[in-house]
Amino acid sequence: MLELSNLCVRYGHIRALEGVSLTLKAGEALAVAGMNGAGKSSLVRAICGLVPVREGQVRLDGQAITGRPLHRLEGVALVPEGRVLAPSLSVSETLWLGAGRVSARTLAARRDGVLARFPELAGRLTQRAGTLSGGEATMLALARGLMAAPRILILDEPSLGLSPAATARVFDTLAELRQDGIGVLIVEQNLHLALGFADRFLLLQHGRPVGEGSTAEADRSAGLEELLLGH
Ligand code: ATP
Repeated sequence: MLELSNLCVRYGHIRALEGVSLTLKAGEALAVAGMNGAGKSSLVRAICGLVPVREGQVRLDGQAITGRPLHRLEGVALVPEGRVLAPSLSVSETLWLGAGRVSARTLAARRDGVLARFPELAGRLTQRAGTLSGGEATMLALARGLMAAPRILILDEPSLGLSPAATARVFDTLAELRQDGIGVLIVEQNLHLALGFADRFLLLQHGRPVGEGSTAEADRSAGLEELLLGH
């Protein structure tokens, strides 16, 4: 289980995140919402050790992992905003990098599992990542994350720039992953998608948590949509 308590992130004088706490259990999905600049990416980066945490703690299965870099965070994988693939690497090489330091046997087993989930990548193993379509690149970013065999998957705006069909494919895959017991923390600007997919939401405003609860409640709560959308 992932647990954040009272997390604070600052960039110089800018308070990007103030007192954010959350929990994420196996198979659960939490949507992090908020306007541009609300602190969503800072939250993701803080969990993954990509920005310094000023105050507070990140725990994974009860163990403090605050500030630990992603490559040393066993059990956590990130699908970063904008996908961020190395364009000159092949699909196969990209998957290989996602696995980290594992034996050849483990690598092969994980690769088989991932390619069974993403058959569209299986026929493109030698193709360079930079030549994939937006939808394929997102699948590759997701597949690369899964090569780490995570228990917690973190996604920063995976639907950005995708067609509705590709977006639906991403969310179908995430639903399958949840059924396999993977906890999903997702930053998503498409509110309808986010609330439809997740069990719970966390709403950030100017780095502070201003709302949280079950997405079923969110549907009923008048005014929340306006808050989320910044109207
Ligand atoms: P978006 O939806 O636009 O990606 P966000 O909710 O992810 O926004 P963050 O990117 O976490 O928000 O930014 C939170 C605040 O921190 C903003 O005021 C932003 O300008 C600031 N910020 C983010 N990164 C840096 C940085 N490297 N240096 C200085 N300020 C930063």
